[in-house]
Amino acid sequence: AMRHLPYFCRGEVVKGFGRGSRELGIPTANFSEQVVESFPSDISTGIYYGWACVGNGDVHKMVLSVGWNPFYKNTKKSVETHIIHTFKEDFYGEILSIVIVGYIRPEKNFDSLEALISAIQEDIEEAKRQLDLPEHLKLKEDNFFHLPEGKIVNNH
Ligand code: ADP
Ligand code: MG
Repeated sequence: AMRHLPYFCRGEVVKGFGRGSRELGIPTANFSEQVVESFPSDISTGIYYGWACVGNGDVHKMVLSVGWNPFYKNTKKSVETHIIHTFKEDFYGEILSIVIVGYIRPEKNFDSLEALISAIQEDIEEAKRQLDLPEHLKLKEDNFFHLPEGKIVNNH
């Protein structure tokens, strides 16, 4: 899972499939199919942590899920970023820049909504702890986040 990391990626935020992440209090910004297809095909599915920035905004901690997209009968991957920050407004259509720093766990099925939410909450706490480590903090300052907006650069 770690072989491709850190992984730098930039692309437009598109409408997802209304799987209710917002209702869980955990909205996930979805990348377009094109961006997802540019990912290494052998990147492990599961939950990752890293840094994210919307447009020219501040860099925040994030958790990311790489999974199979039920909308396409699980034939296409989806990549969704939950930024650990409260935004005043939605940012569909904006350019999201992320660096994926580390892997947390594989995808799992949960018996209940409560179990799912508490797992995600634990992922978020784990991401926050990991990203405070000096070796991970330094990626927050990476020049990647200061490149001109609109320039799509996957893995530099
Ligand atoms: P969709 O199915 O369209 O992806 P979600 O319920 O997952 O809908 O909500 C995602 C949208 O919420 C994002 O595209 C973004 O515009 C907005 N949003 C607001 N706050 C956040 C956040 N902290 N992290 C990710 N997306 C957020
Ligand atoms: Mg989403």
